[in-house]
Amino acid sequence: MISSTLTQRILDAVDAGFDEQLRATAELVAAPSLRANEEAAQDLIEGRLSALGLDVDRWAIASDELEAHPGYGPSTVDYTGMTNVVGTYTPSREAGRSLILNGHIDVVPEGPEAQWARSPWDAEVRDGWMYGRGAGDMKAGLIANLFAFDAIRRAGLAPTARVHLQSVVEEECTGNGSLAALLRGYSADAVIISEPEEDALVRANVGVLWSTIRVSGEPTHPREMANGFNAIDAAYDVIAALRELEATWNAEQHEHPYFEDLDHPINFNIGGIQGGDWPSSVPAWCELRLRVAIYPGVTAADALAAVEECVRTAAAGGEGRHPFDVEVTPDGFFAEGYVLEPGSDAEAVLEQTHRAAFGRELTSFTTPGYLDGRVFVNYGKTPTLVYGPVSENIHGFDERVSVESIRRCTQSMALFIAEWCGVDEIG
Ligand code: ZN
Repeated sequence: MISSTLTQRILDAVDAGFDEQLRATAELVAAPSLRANEEAAQDLIEGRLSALGLDVDRWAIASDELEAHPGYGPSTVDYTGMTNVVGTYTPSREAGRSLILNGHIDVVPEGPEAQWARSPWDAEVRDGWMYGRGAGDMKAGLIANLFAFDAIRRAGLAPTARVHLQSVVEEECTGNGSLAALLRGYSADAVIISEPEEDALVRANVGVLWSTIRVSGEPTHPREMANGFNAIDAAYDVIAALRELEATWNAEQHEHPYFEDLDHPINFNIGGIQGGDWPSSVPAWCELRLRVAIYPGVTAADALAAVEECVRTAAAGGEGRHPFDVEVTPDGFFAEGYVLEPGSDAEAVLEQTHRAAFGRELTSFTTPGYLDGRVFVNYGKTPTLVYGPVSENIHGFDERVSVESIRRCTQSMALFIAEWCGVDEIG
């Protein structure tokens, strides 16, 4: 355990850099890094990693190896121009345990801007909160990774193990960015992902499957509507069947450790709907965009098979119902969930550093949302701590992140780097 004097030096170094940290966070929020438009934001990260004196690796994530991986989510965008950025610190003397600090650069769409109190991209700080799309999820955490690392050196110390600072794409839709970083060869003795997690540690989380469900109808003129078949009406039947499958999976929560006490752990989201060509034509088609959650231990392939069976049964007709054609196409997350098994050294260290930064005990919880932790836990076999600041309204209007929480999480992570990697005095 590092000394209390050293601890104080590191805590003070985070405080001394905190105004600059907030400016860097605001600058990053102001770069709208929506899917397939992350490059300008990644330029900012690359510049900061270079300024820290790190070896910077930036590469387009497209690869055959990525597409062949069982955790790959089928993508609907071109990856040839989409890059990950990793800054690597190599110690002059190697003594401690290596570490990856990971964060995602991509943000979800802001939705109708008129429903925001202010622009989603102005990163205003008001009453102790920073607002903006991506402020919480997760630009505050991504920048905190950089400043936690920098604080060690501003405290006059040098880590004695390898540290990789990763800024990845595609976390909000496939998880292929972190997967590409793993396949690039980056590994370490522990990973921290500073997602907005209420100053707590994620113990378990769901996997996620995305798909598009296309229902086919029989177009006719509405004057002879009974001779046609309305694909949009039929899509409602598909949705009803999916809600039944969702209820079945939720009823099984007691069989899944860490999910027993959650209120509705499995959420199916109809995230988009499109269909029909003309108000006066019975619609020939309707497409639903579906997101389903999966318990850890259930493969994405099994979940997809269950969804396919569910919608095929709905489409089979019977009991006076017209049968119809339906097609399910996976087109995003194809990801299993994971559990962070208790008892790792990494978790024990985080318990200490959290206590030092927050003055209270670290708690853990199960989250029903996707996390890139599954890449490092399931495929990298690495203890992965998903841990980060308090936020509100992520993926909603007026998303915001607590400034004080960012400061303390950064302190906790800086102490983690010192404790986990070890430190030498500089000079
Ligand atoms: Zn996130």
